[in-house]
Amino acid sequence: AKEAGRNQFAFFQPEMEQHTKAKRELEIELRNALDNDDLELAFQPKWGVESGRVEGFEALLRWPHKTRGYISPDEFIPIAEETGLIVRIGAWVLLKACYEASTWPDDIEVSVNVSPVQFLAKSLYDDVTSALSQTGLAPERLELEITEGILMQDTDANLKTLSSIGALGIKIALDDFGTGYSSLGYLRRFHFDRIKIDKSFVSDVLTSKDSQAVVHAVCGICKSLDIESVAEGVEELVQMAFLKQEGCSQLQGYFIARPMTPEAALDFIEASHPH
Ligand code: C2E
Ligand code: CA
Ligand code: CA
Ligand code: CA
Repeated sequence: AKEAGRNQFAFFQPEMEQHTKAKRELEIELRNALDNDDLELAFQPKWGVESGRVEGFEALLRWPHKTRGYISPDEFIPIAEETGLIVRIGAWVLLKACYEASTWPDDIEVSVNVSPVQFLAKSLYDDVTSALSQTGLAPERLELEITEGILMQDTDANLKTLSSIGALGIKIALDDFGTGYSSLGYLRRFHFDRIKIDKSFVSDVLTSKDSQAVVHAVCGICKSLDIESVAEGVEELVQMAFLKQEGCSQLQGYFIARPMTPEAALDFIEASHPH
């Protein structure tokens, strides 16, 4: 058994090395993509239930890779976080997203995802102010989507940072709500403008009593705290109907539209937005 254990170890080690090597290669390629301006943003509409029109877009990173096609952000963002590259990528996303939004009508917002690593790096405040001043975008048209990971460590310092960024007049949304640990406590310590109900609850809202109860509760909390609720991952008409009935403010998902190129976003605005 001892022998077998040793062999197993000998067998696994090269594989582990290969794994790290593949990751290192991906990191180098990602760095090059950033330097060569090869990264792209896709924009997914956020639909206003009351207004019945597009009220904003979420910017989502896309990496077109030479040989592998588009690599998913779920695959490359963790690598960028591990290596710290996310700080530069995040600044690029902010600038690019604000720039695109500056070409849209004045009442359409843009939402940008912020990694906890980027937040903790302390440059976020400067990155936000610089993106706004370079593009001339009004602060109230920019929303940052953060996850509770930001608030979990070193909470007081992070709440202070969050407050100073919020004081710029931008909106702050709590993303992936319901998937973490103790989100409710954070709602008392910081006033979020929006809460995004995670798509895992939305996807089975009609089949799972538990998800239904969570969505109902979150929408209720939002109403009483004067926070807007946003549902992501809406794929079916029946889900949309349920969420409307629960009083959700904004809906997002394939049922409304998939993430699209900046050009398609302009067409989408043209088609859905009365001038
Ligand atoms: P997220 O912020 O929760 O974004 C929602 C994800 O759900 C996006 O995946 C979006 O394309 C996808 N989605 C939208 N509607 C539907 C739907 O109806 N059904 C389903 N099944 N999926 C839907 P995407 O674009 O692959 O991004 C994955 C994650 O990568 C994001 O999750 C976010 O955490 C991260 N990410 C994307 N762009 C950025 C970025 O610029 N910065 C940072 N830090 N993270 C990013
Ligand atoms: Ca998001
Ligand atoms: Ca989310
Ligand atoms: Ca997510």
